[in-house]
Amino acid sequence: MSDYRIQGATGEWEVVIGLEVHAQVVSEAKLFSGAATAFGAEPNTQVSLVDAAMPGMLPTPNVECIRQAVRTGLAIDAKINQWSRFDRKNYFYADLPQGYQISQLYHPLVGEGQITVDLPGENGAGATKTIGIERIHVEQDAGKLMHDQHPSFSYVDLNRSGVALMEIVSRPDMRSPEEAGAYVRKLRAILRYVGSCDGNMEQGSMRADVNVSVRKPGEAFGTRTETKNVNSVRFIMAVIEHEARRQVEVIEDGGVVVQETRLYDPDRNETRSLRSKEDAHDYRYFPDPDLLPLELSDAFVEDCRASLPELPDAKRSRYEGELGLSAYNADVLTAEVETARWFEALLAAGKGDAAFAQRASNWVISDLFGALNKLGKGIEDSPVTPAQASSLLGLVADGTLSGTLAKQVFEIMLETGEDPDKIVEERGLKQTSDTGAIEAVIAEIMAANADKVAEYRAGKDKLFGFFVGQTMKAMAGKANPGVVNELLKKALG
Ligand code: ADP
Ligand code: MG
Repeated sequence: MSDYRIQGATGEWEVVIGLEVHAQVVSEAKLFSGAATAFGAEPNTQVSLVDAAMPGMLPTPNVECIRQAVRTGLAIDAKINQWSRFDRKNYFYADLPQGYQISQLYHPLVGEGQITVDLPGENGAGATKTIGIERIHVEQDAGKLMHDQHPSFSYVDLNRSGVALMEIVSRPDMRSPEEAGAYVRKLRAILRYVGSCDGNMEQGSMRADVNVSVRKPGEAFGTRTETKNVNSVRFIMAVIEHEARRQVEVIEDGGVVVQETRLYDPDRNETRSLRSKEDAHDYRYFPDPDLLPLELSDAFVEDCRASLPELPDAKRSRYEGELGLSAYNADVLTAEVETARWFEALLAAGKGDAAFAQRASNWVISDLFGALNKLGKGIEDSPVTPAQASSLLGLVADGTLSGTLAKQVFEIMLETGEDPDKIVEERGLKQTSDTGAIEAVIAEIMAANADKVAEYRAGKDKLFGFFVGQTMKAMAGKANPGVVNELLKKALG
């Protein structure tokens, strides 16, 4: 994985990647005002006088946003800076009524941390890699310009203006599009477990600035470009691939890579230059005189720590260690917080031991995921509840349902939302171990297939499957397969 290389005319090139991820903080109100943050509201209906930058308005920090950023920092093993400060980043743009963004340059809330990402290794053997996090700072989002609404005007929607963002800055530790993709997916999973960002990339809750440079393996870092506001994992990976190739071509043609800000055009799958890169001094940063430094007490930080849920890595090793699940099952069931929640509700409903956990995990991954896939639904919208699933698994465990019947009952549950017990009762789907009834059916089948009985007895063992199939068919799938096997063996001799 780490030996991903771009093949150039002069040999192999290594790609170096660092990501700055902007994650919208989950909070009712904005970072410095009481305006609402709900997605999809009518333009300019969630704008306070502070967000519109009316003269004389003063910002008031929203402690919930600070709490969420601290919780996020703790979740990635980061140093929490109990003294931090807000700075003004000055620039002019029509979506920024203040004329500056309140951000944190010199003293960010969260310092160094790390995220361990999982890389699909060769031959299915998984590998992990730790990506360093440089910092997380808290800042305001800008408004949104709306073009193409009118032939000669552009509009501005300030609903997003002042919404809290966490900017999560990685070290230049990634070396391939796959590593960057794995990093973003893992970061997103952590944020969603913590509940500090909904991770909804289509709605813009998470977007990345993608820094890419190339070098000959072993040489010093090259000059990087930064592609702004890339809003899907697929696009992030495409940007890296494209940008690395472009840089290799530039260098091999005798040119130099210019440090600049670029934009990605998904329709043409290319990046193009937007502007030469600003330096910090271009923004004339200075401490915001309207805000005191943030000073966090030990108790506040400990409170944040205590509020953290079990995180994906810990959960996965518990599923493997305590529940005895395979590495694969543990991985799949912890990758998304909703899946883990659903699975744990199922375990709780089943009062399960390790054997139950094992069966339940297989059932969720094969049967439930298969069904949800067909329905195009996420697990949080599953038409079958964990309690109902637990009853279904219970009916299999106690022999009431065979595997085949359970699948039939599950289909009906998905359609009707009814409890499995009721379905089994009303539709007579119980599995039978009634030996008398099964023996009678076997006798009929043997009489009707005397030739096959003779062949079987003469040594054609694989005909056994034929008799099992015929018996099950005659019993409408309701015969207990174990009993059928046993009785057939006896009858066929
Ligand atoms: P700035 O604040 O000017 O954007 P930073 O030094 O904070 O610059 O870095 C921003 C991002 O760029 C970080 O994610 C970092 O990992 C990444 N980065 C820095 N140097 C390189 C490089 N040579 N190649 C790729 N990414 C880099
Ligand atoms: Mg930057």
